[in-house]
Parts: sequence; structure tokens; C-alpha cells
Amino acid sequence: MGRVLAAGVCGSDLSLFRGGPIAERLWPLVLGHETVVRVDASSHVLAERWGVGVGDRVFVEEFIPCGWCQTCRSGNYRVCPRTDFRSERFVRYGRTSLDSGPGLWGGFAEYLYLHPDARLHPVPDSVESQVAALATPIANGLRWVRTVADTQPADNVVVLGPGAHGLGCVAAARQVGAHEVIVIGRSSDGQRLDVATALGATAALRIDHDDVLAEVHRRTAGRGADVVVDATGSAEAASLAPRFAARSGRVVLAGGTTGPADDFPVDLVTSRELSILGVRGHDGYDIARALRLIEAKTADFSLMSAPATVLSEGAALLTDLCADDATGHAPHHVLVPGPEPADADRDVEE
Ligand SMILES: [Zn+2]
Repeated sequence: MGRVLAAGVCGSDLSLFRGGPIAERLWPLVLGHETVVRVDASSHVLAERWGVGVGDRVFVEEFIPCGWCQTCRSGNYRVCPRTDFRSERFVRYGRTSLDSGPGLWGGFAEYLYLHPDARLHPVPDSVESQVAALATPIANGLRWVRTVADTQPADNVVVLGPGAHGLGCVAAARQVGAHEVIVIGRSSDGQRLDVATALGATAALRIDHDDVLAEVHRRTAGRGADVVVDATGSAEAASLAPRFAARSGRVVLAGGTTGPADDFPVDLVTSRELSILGVRGHDGYDIARALRLIEAKTADFSLMSAPATVLSEGAALLTDLCADDATGHAPHHVLVPGPEPADADRDVEE
């Protein structure tokens, strides 16, 4: 078990909180898959495997891959059948039923069950647990922008959507040394666009106010962007993304919450020879790099998150976010359980 210290709120949590066919299939469950815990004595074998000690703070990856299926053995454990809710073998943090095993599969609780196949990462001493909970969006940014899109120094990058994952992409693009890093949101994204600028975006455009296509072309000497990332999860944005891309550009589609995009411009994909790259999350290497980036304080990543909300107020927070999740809220929220009980120390010493 791990005593939960901080748990990030992801947009996908809101989708499940709202309900719908997938939620109905998965409920009842404990949400939360961006979790920092303190390892207790019951997980000493797992802790030893990952090179951490009982009592240490660790970030727990959301995937619990089997390690032996074909995709796991190829190193691509993000698509292990265990990560797919349609599979009989499905098990994943924040998505697994209370009726399965010990039931504590989510970070929005005081304790998290640490499965023997859980993947742990030590949190550096200088990083607060609440900031470490941002490792997921930053890891996604690193993977999507750097690993998958192979963004190079002096490339021009456009990021659609200034939510937590979009901001992770901004941070990653800056880290790589991109020339222009243009983030596109809506006027209602106010605070999120400000955070993008603080993280190093060279322009923060509002699609309902600015001539975004013209501005991207102006800033890229008429070429368009070498890399475009759609981090919105909307079919509309996925169809828009190729229009910002330069010839031979790479278009990363990260949104996984919508259905088919009817207006997807296949003609542009072929005429400009674009590469369309689908992505799903990150792997352990990205999490480790994200934690190191946070530790290095190359930017004030704490800006990405609103002040933490205590767990007992979590349902009210989710209700608020669902009611108006496009009205300039902070991009990322974190739940904390409140003070650790005194007996947590005793567990550590056993
Ligand atoms: Zn597997």
C-alpha cells in the first residue's frame, strides 16, 4: 500500500465523473491516476525492486503492464492489453473497479494499492508532492514533442489546447530548443494562456479572436509549423491541426476522448507529405525525465496547478470543473488527503 500524498485531476477523470457508456462500464471505482504516495511496509518487496525504500515518496505510473505479452516484450507497454478496458485482463489505476481485489485502485483516496507490477519512480527530495503530481502532463509533453515528433532545435511548434497536457508540450518544446512555440486556445482560457507564456511559449493565440492561421504563417516565415500537437481531445481540433503544418511536418494527435473527425483534411496530409502520429500517454523513461526536469527548476512548473484541494472537497471540485471546464480554470488540479496520521510513521519504521 501507499499512503496518498497528492493526486492530479486529469480531464479524463472529468469524463468518467460526468458518466456515459464507458463510465457505466467501469463504475464503481476510485478515480485518480497521477498519484504520489509514501510506500508503506506492506510493499517492501516492490519498493526494493524499484530501488526505493519503505517510507520513500514515489510517483506511481497509471499503467500496470503485465510484462510478458507481445507489446510489453517489445517495450511498448502503453498498449499492453491490461491497459485496455475492453480486455478481460484490464487493470489500470483510476479505472479499475472497487469490486476487483482490494479495490483501492485510485489516487482520490487516502491509500493506494500497490500492485506487484506497479511501476514506481522516486520523487526527488526538493520536489513537493503536489508538483510531482504534474509529472504526467510533463512526461506526456516530453514523449509527444520530443520522442514521437522528434522535434529538433530551431523547429517551429504549434500546440493546440493550453490544458495541462498542452502546457507539458510547451515545456517540452522549450526544453528541446524549439524556435517558435505557439500555443492556441480560446479567450476563455485566459489563465492557461498566461501560464503557457510563463513556461516559454513565444505566442499565445486565441482562436475566437485572432487570425490564428495567418499568425502562425507570419511567425514561421510562411512555412507553417514543423510540429503540430493537438492536445485538446476534440475532433474539430484534430481536423484543424494539419492546416498549421509545414511541408513534411509532423502532426501529433493526442486527443483520445472523441470519435471520428469528419473534416480531417486528407488532401493536405498527402500534398504536404505530413506524418500523422497517434500517441497514448508516456512510459517510465518519460516520467523519470519529467521528475528530473521539475527538480532542475528550468521553469516554474508549479504555475501549471491550482492550489491543492483537500480530498474531502474533491467531489465538489470535480462537479465545478464539469460544470464549466472551459472557463479559464487553472489547467491542472491536485487533491491532497490532509495531514498524514501519526501511525503512518510507525508503519515506516517496521
Ligand atoms: Zn503486457
